[in-house]
Amino acid sequence: MALLRTLVCSLLAAWPVCPGLGLPLAPAGRHNPAPAVGQFWHVTDLHLDPTYHLTDDRTKVCSSSKGANASNPGPYGDVLCDSPYKLILSAFDFIEKSGQEASFMIWTGDSPPHVPVSELSTDTVINVIANMTITIQSLFPDLQVFPALGNHDYWPQDQLPIATSKVYDAVANLWGPWLDEEATLTLRKGGFYTQKVTNNLRIISLNTNLYYSPNVVTLNKTDPANQFEWLENTLNNSQKNREKVYIIAHVPVGYLPYSNNTTAIREYYNEKLVDIFRRYSDVILGQFYGHTHRDSIMILSDEKGRPVNSLFVAPAVTPVKNILAKQTNNPGIRLFQYDPHDYKLLDMLQYYLNLTEANLKEESNWKLEYILTHAYDIEDLHPTSLYGLAKEFASLHSKQFVKYYNYFFVSYDSSAICDRKCKALQICAIMNLDNISYADCIKQYYIKHKFVRFFTD
Ligand SMILES: [Zn+2]
Ligand SMILES: [Zn+2]
Repeated sequence: MALLRTLVCSLLAAWPVCPGLGLPLAPAGRHNPAPAVGQFWHVTDLHLDPTYHLTDDRTKVCSSSKGANASNPGPYGDVLCDSPYKLILSAFDFIEKSGQEASFMIWTGDSPPHVPVSELSTDTVINVIANMTITIQSLFPDLQVFPALGNHDYWPQDQLPIATSKVYDAVANLWGPWLDEEATLTLRKGGFYTQKVTNNLRIISLNTNLYYSPNVVTLNKTDPANQFEWLENTLNNSQKNREKVYIIAHVPVGYLPYSNNTTAIREYYNEKLVDIFRRYSDVILGQFYGHTHRDSIMILSDEKGRPVNSLFVAPAVTPVKNILAKQTNNPGIRLFQYDPHDYKLLDMLQYYLNLTEANLKEESNWKLEYILTHAYDIEDLHPTSLYGLAKEFASLHSKQFVKYYNYFFVSYDSSAICDRKCKALQICAIMNLDNISYADCIKQYYIKHKFVRFFTD
């Protein structure tokens, strides 16, 4: 660990502060029998802020508060700051000590902090990604990790290019120990790749940042970096070879659950992705995203309204929020369970850190927040099971939805109320990923509840 600390500190030499890093490594070598279910971890949106340090001047606790007073800073962070290294290490330390056997981990991007563009550079962004990569590789030398790039994993942020770049090149080198030659090649060229996990299971790591609305590099491009063509070919081959696929990416497809009629990626790209995912829904057995920092689910239905795919957006490790926002998320990480014979998703265990409590006790007590099938009394994570649950959410005064809305913020504020309009946006985003069905859903709510000024406020 001393070596890791030195390495990380030297990688972050661009920053003036390299505060106390480190938790002891867990003892190695567990020899449990092979589990009856397959498991994998999902971590996302680490957003390390290397400047985070405790000081009397609250405006100086972290650059990510952008000059605002940190609200209640402690050793594990503050809701106006991105993650201190100690918080990120506590999450990985929990994974290490959890006793859970996982065959791989997915890591869906966004390592650098939310700071003004002028405070970062290509080199500092690469250094933060390198820091996180080396941290994971040092703590889990035997674990297969599948990363995806986030919109913050570039400088300037959001502007991920359609051809090779210094960042794509750097991550291809950094992630080389986890990836095969072909994966490294496409990663270097366009920031995406595919790789087999086992003989019948394949990961497709998409660079959806190319489709992200603020990315001006891809404006008016029909198929940036030819990723759509590549995706279709890859899925087509998987279908022929009877493989199953998990899609991982940073920016999710579909509609944002907290705003009206807004897709995270440009609408044109959203329609294209939905079309591809529908055509290959028999091959795709799960989709995993980050970026919103919230815990949410989506169900993709086909043109006839039949549920065909389950999608999961994982909450962030960073607790950061905008100064004007009321809510944020507690730090979260999750573990998925799948059937090792057919790769269908069975369950999801969401873990979290109560940040207030951790800071108060100066101790990181990561806990199980909920088990998806137990919390909602459903059979498994198949599209039909989640679709049934979503319909239950939609019913008036649904207790299940109240629970869902508390988990949405990773139990940050159980008193948070989702009013009728808030609930309409949530339900329509959970159940509709394409333009026509989403618009229709909003319209139905409008008619049913006679919302005044629904579309104007
Ligand atoms: Zn993020
Ligand atoms: Zn993001």
